[in-house]
Amino acid sequence: MKILVVEDEERVSQFIQKGLREEGHAVDVAFDGEEGGFLAEVNDYDLIILDLMLPKKNGIMVCGEIRERGVATPVLMLTARDSTDDKVRGLDAGADDYLTKPFAFEELLARVRALLRRRSEAKTPTLKIADLELDPMSRRVTRDGNPIRLTTKEYALLEYMMRNTNKVLSRTLIGEHVWDMNFDPESNVIDVYVSHLRNKVDKGFALSLIHTMRGQGYMLSDEAPPA
Ligand code: CA
Repeated sequence: MKILVVEDEERVSQFIQKGLREEGHAVDVAFDGEEGGFLAEVNDYDLIILDLMLPKKNGIMVCGEIRERGVATPVLMLTARDSTDDKVRGLDAGADDYLTKPFAFEELLARVRALLRRRSEAKTPTLKIADLELDPMSRRVTRDGNPIRLTTKEYALLEYMMRNTNKVLSRTLIGEHVWDMNFDPESNVIDVYVSHLRNKVDKGFALSLIHTMRGQGYMLSDEAPPA
């Protein structure tokens, strides 16, 4: 999943980023409210972790503004204060959950999982194409009923492709959604991962689902793409 972390305290931000990346998420960071609000609008995130006290624009303002502009991404608000007032204001501005600093990483992770689960339940329960199935809840992937074991990053790539079947996905697009915005689209990392996925998902099956679109990127489809 792709997560935006808006937090001005360097140490807290580093701590959150590191933990989320270890869980296999792609993480973008912003250090003030203006930059955070901008990124939240131009990129498509699965979750936003938003600090309340931020330079330039506070978290409540940022949350209110992105909601007004139609961004429905779940927001987890962070604050050092544990006042009911702030909680209410944050939730009124459109935040989905609240966490008071200091917190243990496990606690943050539990909230993150709950929000992402709610989002994926709202989206689609099981993703299917031909005989390939992916369950975002259990992260279980099967082809023709046989389980496929994927690494965290392979899984993230396949889930992204299964949410965007029959669309040509450029390396830039894949990089932005599955890695993060500092990803170098010139590197061959994506090709390497796609080749791993092919070996696990398509190898030994008559029908290939992962297609290379010459000069354009990749496409997951159960129909042969036009030559
Ligand atoms: Ca702060």
